[in-house]
Amino acid sequence: MLWETGTPLVHVVVWPPVAATLVFWLLMRQALRRHRVGVRTFGPRWRRTLDGHVAYYLALDGVERRRFEREVAIFLDQAEITGVGTSVSDSVRLLVASSAVMLTFGRPGWGWTDLPEILIYPAPFDERFRRSSRHVAYAGMVVPRNAIALSKSALIWSFRHEEPYHVGLHEFAHVLDMEDGRFDGVPCGLPAAAQRRWQALIEDELVRVRTGRSVLDEYAGSNEAETFAVAVEYFFRAPQRLRRQHPELYEALRDYLNQDPAERD
Ligand SMILES: [Zn+2]
Repeated sequence: MLWETGTPLVHVVVWPPVAATLVFWLLMRQALRRHRVGVRTFGPRWRRTLDGHVAYYLALDGVERRRFEREVAIFLDQAEITGVGTSVSDSVRLLVASSAVMLTFGRPGWGWTDLPEILIYPAPFDERFRRSSRHVAYAGMVVPRNAIALSKSALIWSFRHEEPYHVGLHEFAHVLDMEDGRFDGVPCGLPAAAQRRWQALIEDELVRVRTGRSVLDEYAGSNEAETFAVAVEYFFRAPQRLRRQHPELYEALRDYLNQDPAERD
């Protein structure tokens, strides 16, 4: 049939194997690079940072810790992290990576490819990314397909305190939400029926927040996307409370992220 359409022989015989070889080579190169980065020894200083700041990492067993380190190293190899008016130490880079890896740790196949640039601001900033004064202050923000902005002071605070609030988890939850192009509190990668269930769940929770019947803090009442991002913070940081008071929401997050932090607690 291809002969009849006038396709030159070279297109039929030569290009398909060439294209297949090229794709195979690119995939292999990517896999080898991930492997190389992943097995690169995690230096003692990096390990001390995780030991000193990341409670999630401390709760893992030895095998899981090595996997967490590998995934953090892979994230840092891929991510572009830039300080805006502030320096970005290895410790801060590790905290950014740990926030992201906590979300995907239950699903080893998930990665953070095509991430926008991650901008680190010294302190909370306003809606124009200026250092906040009298404006409303943001500790973090995701500009779809453009940038993830994080306040360094808020990020460090999030890892030092045990409160549910966690700017790193919050902003990377937004990234999972908007990967399908919609900022609606329904995370990416779900089949259609599950998406509808999620939507109903998030809408219910939004109503509960707005009527003072939710364990989530009032910022979750801003819209569906914030309900989801704040729910993710509570899932990791106050899992028992979330499970006790909103079992359906807890179970949906547990199944989606394939982790059960309330049991680990
Ligand atoms: Zn948010």
